[in-house]
Amino acid sequence: MIAGIAKEIGSNERRVAVTPESAKQIKAAGWDVILETGAGKGSFFEDRAYEEAGASLVSSAAELWSRSDVVLKIQPPLPNRALNAHEAELIREGAALICMLRPLSNIDAVKILARRRITSFSMDMMPRTTRAQRMDALSSMSTIAGYKAVLIASDTLPKILPMLVTAAGTIAPSRVLIVGAGVAGLQAIATARRLGAVVEAYDVRPAVKEEVESLGAKFVGPQLSEREAQDEQGYAKAISPEAQRQGMEMLQQRVAQADVVITTARVPGLKAPRLIPADSVARMKPGSVIVDLAADMGGNCELTQPGETVIRHDVTIHGPVRLASTVPVHASQMYSRNVTAFLLHLTRQGSLHLDWTDDITSGTCVTRDGEIVNAATRQRVEDAATATA
Ligand code: NAD
Repeated sequence: MIAGIAKEIGSNERRVAVTPESAKQIKAAGWDVILETGAGKGSFFEDRAYEEAGASLVSSAAELWSRSDVVLKIQPPLPNRALNAHEAELIREGAALICMLRPLSNIDAVKILARRRITSFSMDMMPRTTRAQRMDALSSMSTIAGYKAVLIASDTLPKILPMLVTAAGTIAPSRVLIVGAGVAGLQAIATARRLGAVVEAYDVRPAVKEEVESLGAKFVGPQLSEREAQDEQGYAKAISPEAQRQGMEMLQQRVAQADVVITTARVPGLKAPRLIPADSVARMKPGSVIVDLAADMGGNCELTQPGETVIRHDVTIHGPVRLASTVPVHASQMYSRNVTAFLLHLTRQGSLHLDWTDDITSGTCVTRDGEIVNAATRQRVEDAATATA
């Protein structure tokens, strides 16, 4: 059976799904491994290193997709302009695909995958359980994004982050506010603290207070019970209007005091919550910086332009959409370890052995046997069809 490592074709995508180190592991588990020439180039993994790991090179995307029994990649299938075909049409009928499919945002690709009887797995739907931790690519990419967001902010800020006591007098430390203390937010707190900033963090989940404080930051969120604020998976859920109003008031006060605001708040499957309205941006100090890590889901700040940097009311607002790709070596290494752990979880003696009673296998599966098996995705497709009708 052949595992194929596809070259990413998304704009500004420099990562590769599998590094040579992981290719070797996949080969050792009994798979033949093929790689599209140059797939690792953007992250500085040379073709030669893959060959040394036991992979074979193929020269075209068409060959890679059509020969593979399972295709491994990062981005969801996209239209391949050079081949004038959608990647979901290139994969051999009945084969498998593992990527960050984000099915709720990519229903066109999902419909093609179902029609072509592809068994597709979405790495971003990995259950948040201890057993699945090694395969949790969402956490890996959030870790990178949280770190890089602080570097972008400090590079833009017309101040330094740490307090300095010098012959020229004392420089006060900058104040960084992190909104959303999940995986990305906690990494942003740790990075900003290492750079010497005074850090505060806001979240609706009370469970994060302790983690925030253990990283040396102050927790400034509303006082909600765990049941009000989060679901069984540990994700935030929509909160009551009154709790929302109180939290928002508290948040806007903190935003006005901050030099840097890094927002990471998300609610799975929904648009990102709007937490920083335009008039709050107008009340920030001139020269302040916002990095909105929820830009790809519409943004936490009203003035965010996804994929762009804009200046409004003398505040620079970054809306990066693919931050992990700007750190391609380590982002690829982490994703590769996650996706390889997942592939090996699905492997018995060099081929796929799919146990649908296993929560990792069934929880990540989006399409199989010609059906959309993920309920939320099926509902989204039905809603879209009704809206069109
Ligand atoms: P996420 O990306 O979905 O959300 C980021 C943060 O935004 C979360 O902390 C969330 O509470 C917060 N948020 C959502 N709405 C908000 C609002 N209106 N105002 C303020 N903050 C808001 O979350 P994530 O980082 O992917 O993970 C969430 C949690 O899941 C983690 O903190 C962790 O507890 C848990 N987790 C568990 C595992 C595991 O057990 N294997 C792995 C990863 C994460």
